[in-house]
Amino acid sequence: MIPFRALRMLVYLIFPIVLFLGSPAQAAVRLGVVVVIDQMRPESLDRSDLPDGGFRRLRREGAVFTDARHLHIPTETGPGHAAISTGRGPAVHGIVANDWYDRVAGTETYCVADSAYGIGPEHLRGPTLADALKASSPRARVFSVSGKDRAAVLLGGRKADLVLWFDRFSGEFTTSPYYRRPSWLAAFNAELKKKNLLPVRGGRVPKDLIASPAYDAALDLLISELIARERVGRGPATDLLLISYSGTDLVGHRYGLEVPEMDAQLRSLDLILGRLLKRLEKASGGSLALAFSSDHGAIPAPEDASGKALGVRRLDWDAFGASLEKTMQEKWPLPNAPWILSNEIPHLYLNRRAAEGRGLEWNDFLDRAAKLLSGVDGVAAAYVPGEKGAPFPELTRRSYDPGRSGDLFVIMGQNVLLHDMVPGTSHGTPWDYDARVPLIFWGRGVRAGRTASPAATVDLAPTLGRLLGLDYPLGEGAAVRTEAFAASR
Ligand SMILES: [Zn+2]
Repeated sequence: MIPFRALRMLVYLIFPIVLFLGSPAQAAVRLGVVVVIDQMRPESLDRSDLPDGGFRRLRREGAVFTDARHLHIPTETGPGHAAISTGRGPAVHGIVANDWYDRVAGTETYCVADSAYGIGPEHLRGPTLADALKASSPRARVFSVSGKDRAAVLLGGRKADLVLWFDRFSGEFTTSPYYRRPSWLAAFNAELKKKNLLPVRGGRVPKDLIASPAYDAALDLLISELIARERVGRGPATDLLLISYSGTDLVGHRYGLEVPEMDAQLRSLDLILGRLLKRLEKASGGSLALAFSSDHGAIPAPEDASGKALGVRRLDWDAFGASLEKTMQEKWPLPNAPWILSNEIPHLYLNRRAAEGRGLEWNDFLDRAAKLLSGVDGVAAAYVPGEKGAPFPELTRRSYDPGRSGDLFVIMGQNVLLHDMVPGTSHGTPWDYDARVPLIFWGRGVRAGRTASPAATVDLAPTLGRLLGLDYPLGEGAAVRTEAFAASR
């Protein structure tokens, strides 16, 4: 039995040493973490009916930015994850959409398509936090995992040590030859199959299983294995773990927001997140800084109670595309070819050869087409991006890449949902329901509290960078959110 006085002396002696070692300026954080929930609305966090370990714990112990948003269009998975990983907009990082039209090849291209490796970061440009960390310390390690390949690849950057995602056809987690394939992955996949969480039926994992809590539960198993096998948080320098949970997005697309399926998904994810926080604390010995956000929000479906109250209107994707084409054809009949080569709203790619073949001056033609399409049902604005006097100038400038973006930008009207899966919902517009997302910092060096001043997802990379002791260069419109920092910083 140690006498109380001796114990107190011991505490007095040890305390300054701990304080010294714990000072962020003196000891690097062992583990940086980015957690992205695909299609997470800020409202989904503010529930009081969940156990206190996941969302509630983050809200209570974290620096919470209650008015955070994406500053680009379209608000979808590829551009959203790239904004988070690079701290920049599509004009810089080049991920202008999940898919865009390659004018040279004359086909659609996928945001993480890679000409040499099948899947990889070939299309991603500019700096990423993960690459900057690797550049600052060759011994730093980067691990990126998700249910979706585009989320894992775009978070991980170009130099990641491991990038893993779920393949819906094999029912396994996989990677591409661009990255290292870990030796333990085959055994993990064999164990995963035994658990029968996401079994393959008829050549793929059925959609109703992907759109269920099982999807993120499988990722949770992978993360647990990854942490153990790679000793994440115990590397020779700072480790960075990037995670994107995809299940909520699939559930939202299939069922909508205010339905039992979404409630079950969020409850399950909350438990997964609670377990994750504990696991990360243990792995890093408490030396971690975490940033939490989402790649986009979603609009309540017309069938959801709040969708009904808002008067949300559903438009069929194909029918809407056909009405754009029909409007063009009525003005300029083109019997044997389409005017619209590719429709990736907001990006619209038009048939330049046909226009010039008819003697229409291209820029003049685009102006006239924009005016014409502005009148189509469901459209808030159609305009030539980059043109003087066009609407949404800031948003457009940040989102526009002349080589990859559409000839026209088409912005859907507020409360118009372009999605055919009833009663599901979708996202992509600049409106608040799609653009607003959670932004929370948590862990070492973070001061708990709520901040109502506007913040952006491009703030995440430089702010987490600072928590990791890294001076990550600011992108346009981005800021280091010093409100998140404990006073000692
Ligand atoms: Zn989605």
